[in-house]
Amino acid sequence: MAMIIDGKQLAADTRVQIAEQVRALKSRGIVPGLAVILVGDDPASHSYVRMKEQDCEEVGIASFDHRRSAGITQDELNALIDSCNEDHAVHGILVQLPLPSHLDEEAALARISAEKDVDGLHPMNLGSLVRGIEAPRACTPWGVMKMLERYSVELEGKRAVVIGRSSIVGKPQALMLLESNATVTVCHSRTVDLPGICREADILIAAVGRPKMIDADYVKPGAVVIDVGINRTAEGMVGDVDFAAVEPLASAITPVPGGVGPMTRAMLLANTVAAASRST
Ligand code: NAP
Repeated sequence: MAMIIDGKQLAADTRVQIAEQVRALKSRGIVPGLAVILVGDDPASHSYVRMKEQDCEEVGIASFDHRRSAGITQDELNALIDSCNEDHAVHGILVQLPLPSHLDEEAALARISAEKDVDGLHPMNLGSLVRGIEAPRACTPWGVMKMLERYSVELEGKRAVVIGRSSIVGKPQALMLLESNATVTVCHSRTVDLPGICREADILIAAVGRPKMIDADYVKPGAVVIDVGINRTAEGMVGDVDFAAVEPLASAITPVPGGVGPMTRAMLLANTVAAASRST
């Protein structure tokens, strides 16, 4: 039986610590502020933004809600980002992804001032991660690192396999594991013998977006399995890992929901408070 890595509880504990930091900042006259830019009607995006704004309220961060119709032009989006960049009450800017297809996501992310990039996706901040320079970290992989740390999962010298190479999860995840002295392999859709490579992993991280793809065939007995996947299916939200099949094999595993998702949101708050602290 695997230990269940409880992301929901860990996120709640993290929010308590963040609320304390917010109180300390407020006593110095600084109210951390997060601007949230949401374009279009995607129901999942609306639900994520609602949760993020509730989190802000819980810890005392001011949130500034900027909703725009799907028809917004790139120039209008750029102008909105510029105004948030210039606003002294705003310490962090979140552009909820995905953007409608006529908008240039890369241009929008790069337009955010790097200091206010609390999602950690600005090219400069991803570059800082490559260089090992302190900078806002991408929320999802950073949340995973916090979970591994909290559950005392040893990384040094261990074999870590990351499935997925997106700029949001897979690549920064691999770099963070490398920074912690794991030996890291990154897999993707062209990887040959994916199950065989995954079975070498002491720490297996799935960030694929395919419901329950990772079954017992991919897991070495005793491995730590982190499921980043969020897939909405007829049976509800499921991860990339077939939890029922893998849990008996793993030494520790994250559930979906209640695993990586809540920690991603907590890291957004942490990045916002850190940005507010830096602004003084
Ligand atoms: P993405 O940009 O679509 O990337 C998916 C990656 O998986 C790609 O690198 C792709 O390979 C790889 N892949 C796809 N099919 C594969 C297969 N059959 N075998 C091996 N690799 C395969 O997705 P993402 O943004 O990284 O997100 C991944 C998952 O995490 C999604 O379910 C997403 O909803 C979830 N997510 C969760 C959180 C959270 O807070 N929990 C945050 C972000 C994302 P190629 O590069 O070769 O195409």
